[in-house]
Order: sequence, then C-alpha cells, then structure tokens
Amino acid sequence: MSEISMSKNSVDFAQVRAQFPILEVVENGFPLVYLDSGATSQKPQRVIDAVTQYYREENANVHRGVYGLSERATEKYEGAREKVRTFLNAKSTKEIVFVRGTTEAINLVAHSWVSENLTEGDEVIVTEMEHHSNIVPWQLLRDKLGIRLTVLRMNQKGEICLNALKGLVSEKTKMVSVTHMSNALGTINPVKEMAEIAHSVGAKIMVDGAQATPHMSVDVQDLDCDFYAFSGHKMYGPTGIGVLYAKEALLEKMAPYQGGGDMIYSVSFDKTEYNVLPYKFEAGTPHISGAIGLAAAIDFLNEVGLDNLARHEHALLEYATEQLSQIDGLRIIGQAENKGGVISFVLDGVHPHDMATLMDQDGIAVRASHHCAMPVMQHFNVPATIRASFGAYNNFEDIDRLIASINDAKEMLL
Ligand SMILES: *Cc1c(COP(=O)(O)O)cnc(C)c1O
Repeated sequence: MSEISMSKNSVDFAQVRAQFPILEVVENGFPLVYLDSGATSQKPQRVIDAVTQYYREENANVHRGVYGLSERATEKYEGAREKVRTFLNAKSTKEIVFVRGTTEAINLVAHSWVSENLTEGDEVIVTEMEHHSNIVPWQLLRDKLGIRLTVLRMNQKGEICLNALKGLVSEKTKMVSVTHMSNALGTINPVKEMAEIAHSVGAKIMVDGAQATPHMSVDVQDLDCDFYAFSGHKMYGPTGIGVLYAKEALLEKMAPYQGGGDMIYSVSFDKTEYNVLPYKFEAGTPHISGAIGLAAAIDFLNEVGLDNLARHEHALLEYATEQLSQIDGLRIIGQAENKGGVISFVLDGVHPHDMATLMDQDGIAVRASHHCAMPVMQHFNVPATIRASFGAYNNFEDIDRLIASINDAKEMLL
C-alpha cells in the first residue's frame, strides 16, 4: 500500500506530513509546529496502526508457544529483525540485537565487549561532541578498570579533524566511539574514515547512530564499523525499542549482558549454555510491539526514500540558516560543512529557556537545554542553546513561524 505519491525523484512532502495525526493538535490556539525531532520524532499513522494491530490481533509471547498465535507473533518479530538487517545492510540477522535504545546498546558494548578486552592503561577515545550516553558508560568503565578515556576535541565550527584522530590513536587504543551525527550541533562525522584510522591501530569503532538513521541511509558494511547503535523513537518508530548492530565474530566472543529467559539454551544449577546469536543478548520477553512498530517505521522511511528525505531536510536547514542569520544578536552554534537537519542558536542577552517558553505560547515546540551534551555547551561557553530539529513532516511555513516567533519573543524580552 503506497500512501505517498512519487514522481521519479520527488516526493510530495505535504502528503508525507498528512500521515502524522499529532500535527493536527492545536497548541495554545495555534496549530503545532513541531521542531524537536532530535529529541523524539512524531509517528506516522502506519506505525500507530502496526502497534495497535499487533495488540488487537496477534499478541502472544515469542519463541515459546507452538500455537498459531505465538508463531505469528514470532514471525512478525523476526520479520522486523530482517527488515532492520536490510535497512543497515548487515550481513546476517545474527548481527541485529534488539535493545531498548541507543543508550542500552552502548552500555551493552561497554559492559560485554570492552570490559572483557580492556586492561588497565588501555584507552577508549570519544569526541567532544558526544551525547552523555556515549560518555558516561565509558567513564563508569574507566573508574572500574583504570582505563584511560581520551577526548578528541572539535574546532570552533563544531567539526572533528581526522589528522587529530590520527595523532591520538596508538596501540593502547582499543575503542573509538563516535556519534554519526551530533544532536546538539548537527555535525555529520566522517565515520568511515574514522573507522579506517581506528582499525589501523587494531582498535574497534562504535558508532552512535541515534541522529543519523532518521536522516540518511546507513550501510554498516561500507562504513566498516564494528558496532552501530540507534533508537526507534528518533526515526518515526515507538519508544523503548532500539538496535545494536555488531559484527558477528565480535558478538560470538562477547559475554551476555543480562541473564534470564530466552538467552539460554539449557540451564541447570551447575551449568548454563547460552542461546545462539542474537538471542544470547536478548534476555527476557522482548519489546515485541516495539520491534513491529520499528519495522513499520522502516517501511515509512523506505517509501519516502532516505535520499529524498536528506534533500528535503537540507533545504529546510539552508532556509532556516539564512533566515536566522538575519536576526540581530543571534548566533548559530555549530557551523560544520557537513550538517544534518539540526540548528542550535543563542540570542544575546536572552536565556534560551525564557525564549522557548514564549515560543511555546505561539505553538512552537523547540528544545532549550544542554541537549544531553554538556561538554558541547562548555566548548562554546554557553549554558544552553535553543535547538530546532527537522523531520519529514516539517515545511517552509514551520520555519517562517519559527522566525516570526523568535522576533516576537525578542521584542518582549529585550
Ligand atoms: C537521543 C540520543 C541518544 C540516546 O538515545 P536514547 O534513545 O535516549 O537511548 C544518544 N546519542 C545521540 C546522538 C542522541 O541524539
């Protein structure tokens, strides 16, 4: 069923927008302008329907019952795994582990791969623009194992430099963990080149794809990354479901993260044999409806086409950048050459929270915070920024209303 009419290279984004029922909500007397997809995206009708249909017609536990209903639930759940495999171009579904989200995926790797492969004095490298969920798990490990956590700094535009990474890595480096796209700045990192550099000293690379998967096509074999993590809720899917991709050979050698049902083959009090991949890493009843909703979100993305989406969001970004630049006293934070649909800014003499509160009264949803990336705020010497982030449903009118609202708020606050 195709809900989006497509000519050869263009998508009707008005029809894409019409698939999101929440955008009919009226906020403070105005139609909602949702510019916080970086925090979580809205959900198209087909994702809502997929989850509802599962609970109405297919609900049963997976991998257990021999009755028809359970078999159908299992088929749907495993079908979702295959859909994710294709989405990432992974070699095998054994490499696709369902988790709660990016945060859990990174913690799984920090726990099960790194703690098994690192000894005191070894090093993990992260960049200065990481989300807290790609900093704190490594810090916990540092404090437990006595490893080094080294930071790759960024420049004033909010970019990292490949030569700086080359200078930083050594035979002590065991892991480079980097965001594919920064949620605070929009910077898209050259992860393929970074993977080469990491591999040149025998280190592994973990990529935080939370912001990338909703905006661009990802090919884990082409990137040659060892681990790739993302969250369903940022790419039009449900909350509470996410994915850890890892190369099969690495997963084979890793210890389980959690113990319980489904991750075992046999259990006695003397000895437990673990289940095969990827089930070894999926203890307990999984988020079945979440995986099914995620599969529907991937269908949505495929139908729009990630290249079309990237072009659409880039046009919005360019327009917003141009319009924002004309506002006196406004400073855009993060001016990388290669940037996704995220724009962060501050206004002289105005606290971002005050600004965003006034904008809410115009029905504009933007985020004013440190965006779970406090080191980025420290780098640019600001307490917080206002961030507008774009999704498939945004249009030029949303940006016009954003700009008008900023100008109004500015008049009231200054
Ligand atoms: C949102 C986000 C995370 C954390 O994702 P969760 O879904 O909260 O686990 C990690 N990294 C980046 C870049 C993010 O934007």
